[in-house]
Amino acid sequence: PSPRLVVGNWKMHGLREQSTRLARAVAEGAQALPDDVRLVLCPPFTQLASVHGIINAAGPAAPLCLGAQDCHTTSSGPHTGDISADMLSDLGVQYVILGHSERRQAHGETDALIRRKVEAAEAAGLIPVVCIGETMEERLEGRTTTVLATQVEGSLTDDFSGVLAYEPVWAIGSGSVPPIDELERTLSLLHGLLQSRLKMDDIHVPILYGGSVTPAQAPTIFSIGSLGGVLVGSASLEAKSFLRIAESA
Ligand code: 13P
Repeated sequence: PSPRLVVGNWKMHGLREQSTRLARAVAEGAQALPDDVRLVLCPPFTQLASVHGIINAAGPAAPLCLGAQDCHTTSSGPHTGDISADMLSDLGVQYVILGHSERRQAHGETDALIRRKVEAAEAAGLIPVVCIGETMEERLEGRTTTVLATQVEGSLTDDFSGVLAYEPVWAIGSGSVPPIDELERTLSLLHGLLQSRLKMDDIHVPILYGGSVTPAQAPTIFSIGSLGGVLVGSASLEAKSFLRIAESA
């Protein structure tokens, strides 16, 4: 079986000293993790190079990868302030989070735009981690299934072989996680949606859960056998918490 992914989305956190300290502590603790876990650190753009140095120093046997939090739809051009997938790949980045709800909301990112970013990431050899999820309003209106189906339809490519992250928007930073039986049902719904969406016989798309993942919640979340891993926000900013989550993977 492929390793379970434990992805740390640092969001817009971390100056030089804090980022270096955090990455070093994670790299040190990662030595003791079982073989079937892979950690992906996704610092802000400004810290990618220094975190890459720390991951490199940990050696090829360490279960550590570098990820970014966004990329542009094209590989270069007159796009002031943007960063392309090729630039990320050139820095040693392997994964890129795309379509996070914070970007969908604050930057108006649509499924169509996210799909073009997925294409750019794939062309640059990066593994896209595409985020989808319903808002509280959509959930209360009973529209979760339709919303997820639309996002899977619109934001993935026909031959998508990256990672899908289910992050209910209402669970992010809220301290609430969906009831485990509900999460299990949503995961099988997503597996079904991938089967009908992707034009391939062999589908290898791990599905992650994200939204208020803590060391305390992690064992219950990981008890779902079909879960490909987790996408961790605030708990990834503390090496101890992040490593404890990884230990229960
Ligand atoms: P929290 O773990 O802080 O809820 O954030 C989740 C998230 O948005 C990860 O991408």
